[in-house]
Amino acid sequence: ALTTTDYDTIAAISTPPGEGGISIVRISGSDAMKVAEKIYRGKNLAKVASNTINYGHIVDPSDHNSEVDEVMVSVMRAPKTYTKEDIIEINCHGGIVATNKILQLVLSNGARMAEPGEFTKRAFLNGRLDLSQSEAVMDLIEAKTDESMKAALNQLDGNLSHLIKHLRQDILDVLAQVEVNIDYPEYDDVETMTSKLLMDKSKELKAQIDQLLKTAKQGKVLRDGLNTAIVGRPNVGKSSLLNRLLHEDKAIVTDVPGTTRDVLDEYVNVSGVPLHLVDTAGIRDTEDKVEKIGVDRSRNAIKQADLVLLVLNASEPLTDEDRELLDLTQKSKRIILLNKTDLPGKINVNELKQRYHAENIIKTQATKDNGTQSLEDTIAKMFFNGGIKSSQNDVMVTNARHISLLQQASDSLQSVENGLNNGMPVDLVQIDMTNAWDLLGEITGDSYDGELLDQLFSQFCLGK
Ligand code: GDP
Ligand code: ZN
Repeated sequence: ALTTTDYDTIAAISTPPGEGGISIVRISGSDAMKVAEKIYRGKNLAKVASNTINYGHIVDPSDHNSEVDEVMVSVMRAPKTYTKEDIIEINCHGGIVATNKILQLVLSNGARMAEPGEFTKRAFLNGRLDLSQSEAVMDLIEAKTDESMKAALNQLDGNLSHLIKHLRQDILDVLAQVEVNIDYPEYDDVETMTSKLLMDKSKELKAQIDQLLKTAKQGKVLRDGLNTAIVGRPNVGKSSLLNRLLHEDKAIVTDVPGTTRDVLDEYVNVSGVPLHLVDTAGIRDTEDKVEKIGVDRSRNAIKQADLVLLVLNASEPLTDEDRELLDLTQKSKRIILLNKTDLPGKINVNELKQRYHAENIIKTQATKDNGTQSLEDTIAKMFFNGGIKSSQNDVMVTNARHISLLQQASDSLQSVENGLNNGMPVDLVQIDMTNAWDLLGEITGDSYDGELLDQLFSQFCLGK
């Protein structure tokens, strides 16, 4: 097994890039103290207590110890730290030049530049966090709404891990019992007993996993957002509605600085549900040229969307283009926004309901704030049975990797059941049971391969 001493000492700037009041250079590893002592003038860091913050100066040893910055240095000694290693954090004045200079000094005095997410990877490798908790650290940084944050915190607390560990222990117990039975073949009914045990237990475990999977749909929406397309012909009020959703007192979350995401994403917070707006280019750009792309462009957006907001101008009769969009969105989860309801109405709502099977119709006036509340309520009703209940104790699966592993584990347990029903020998059935155990272990990182780790942690920001 790996121990803390197997790793070298790493460093990075842990505050977001750019100007700020302060910046923090973080160092982790067994040489962290040694590195800091070489470039710090103030108290004797070797003698200060753990978890103290110490005033002093950073100096450049290669330039007659000239002063670089006035700093506060936090000293945190292993093992009660984020990485379980010695950690030094240098709080310096926030300028880019000073901060980079300090990082350079740290690097030229014995530390190595950290990879993205490497501090959290250490926390995992040193056994402080399991894999699903490490992933929660990233989810927490990138959480788009309060509700997403609650779900991530819950996972960081280890509630999912706890459940998974229990399931795995149960599987181990069954497998052990089966081994015992096999060792005592002198009992007459041992085979029937063993089959029954495997059958009962796999059914029970599968039911628990399937229960967990039921939370996945909502969980994934909270973590990744609901892909939402706003469609409608020109001038019906799409841009006005978008602005309604974006402004007010709602948090707008654009791309998180420092993350590796390459597309510029736009999220709107609707009662805690992050709506991820798909293809707003045509909506934002009011130039006719773009608007004309109309239906073709909408077709793509509709295909990618989990939710379509179809905007109609209630003050004009339905046009061919409206009808085409109504047809195109027939199979989508759809909300129809009858906009411009301040003007005399020209759309027959009964026709919408009967001919186009329109269910969720909301009257709006985008020039005022009329209708946004019912829009929020309808979304909550459609995707969260009324409201989001990500309480601190409810375990919710949010991560696509976990969802896929749980699904595979559930399938393996189904194979156990099928195998027994088809009279398959117990030792073959055991393989499927063991497989479920392995798959669940990949969620918590009890079984993992290095490549997966590299890939997961490389998605983190630098310094985390
Ligand atoms: P888009 O082309 O679908 O994005 O439509 P816009 O949002 O640009 O709106 C087109 C015009 O309709 C603008 O002049 C808006 O001010 C106006 N408009 C939008 N919503 C309403 C509404 O609810 N009532 C009225 N009377 N006008 C609206
Ligand atoms: Zn990040």
